[in-house]
Amino acid sequence: MRGHVDADALVACTRALVEVDTQNPPGNEQAVLPVVRHLLEPFDPRFEEVEPAPGRASLVATIGTGGGDRPTLIVNGHLDVVPVDGPGWTCDPFAGRLDGDRLYGRGTADMKGGIAAAVEALHALRRAGRQPSCDLAFHLVADEERGGALGTQALVDAGAVRGDACLVPEPTGLAVCVAERGLMVATITVFGRPAHGSEPRRGVSAVEMAAKVVLALHAADFGGPAHPLLGTPTCNVGVIEGGSGHNTVAERCALTVDRRLLPGMTRAEAEAGLRARIDAIDDGDLRYELEVSVYGEASELDAGHGLVDQVQAAMVAALGQPAPVIGMGFTTDARFVRNQAGIPAVVCGPGEVSQAHVHDEWVAVSRLVDAAAVYAELFASFAPATAATRTS
Ligand SMILES: [Zn+2]
Repeated sequence: MRGHVDADALVACTRALVEVDTQNPPGNEQAVLPVVRHLLEPFDPRFEEVEPAPGRASLVATIGTGGGDRPTLIVNGHLDVVPVDGPGWTCDPFAGRLDGDRLYGRGTADMKGGIAAAVEALHALRRAGRQPSCDLAFHLVADEERGGALGTQALVDAGAVRGDACLVPEPTGLAVCVAERGLMVATITVFGRPAHGSEPRRGVSAVEMAAKVVLALHAADFGGPAHPLLGTPTCNVGVIEGGSGHNTVAERCALTVDRRLLPGMTRAEAEAGLRARIDAIDDGDLRYELEVSVYGEASELDAGHGLVDQVQAAMVAALGQPAPVIGMGFTTDARFVRNQAGIPAVVCGPGEVSQAHVHDEWVAVSRLVDAAAVYAELFASFAPATAATRTS
């Protein structure tokens, strides 16, 4: 199958997507939809758009009979990219410059290259004289980089996420990712009682109290067994700011913490875990407020699920060997598909995670070609699989 993938066409497709600025914020994914429609038009799709806020559009393109007589495989890819910040870029982030095997530009790895590989897979199948075994529903969505409320979440709310399984071509180095940790960001504001700096024991220092909170939370062991792919939940105190001057006992100090969570852990449990550790601090002067600003739950697919076997079979057919099965420390839109729509999902795409969100982002063209070949094999062989076919 790899010989049927047109690397030049794949580069051109990726470049066409990269050239449209969809930095989020503000997003403006609507601007790239004409390009996406044009790329998919040869396969005669039915298009449906969901636009929950002006300019924040997602596209569902269903290829196949759509008559319900064949299974449906969803390909979920986000069209937004993280902002190009600072002067660190040495090339135009929206030009798609090719240098040897490297294609540079914002979104080449995360994840316009993955989307392009899925589109090129359809062409490769055609050139090989083969057909998809299923309907293919491309969900090309907004807002993944800022939590997905205006993208995949909006599609779920609109009842548009329907299918038997889902492939998310986010950058994993073509490893098969079946589990991802959740994220909770919380701000803990600690309150003190000001006094003159020459007499620190006359007041209550919010900085001193916050220091005790830091020691209670940072890199703490929150108990429970480790997940085989995701390890243990973590807590990083990433930001601290407080006090008004050297000569005043601090009245206020705020900490921002980043918690990474395991599947099955609810927002309430994650918040309660923080409060329990703070409340266990033996100091009657400690007063605080805790506010959660970001929450995305963890998700996973049993590594023994039949979908994983089918992806691995496609790997072997296209590349000669199976890929590592991994978990990832951060969230993708796969969590909406798994947890809310109840559809099995794997994350597997070209590009390295280390290339996502960095200056001079690039993807290897050879890996785009590998991905397109794997996807073509999967599209040609996919059949719904249910329970675990083996123990993981
Ligand atoms: Zn991404």
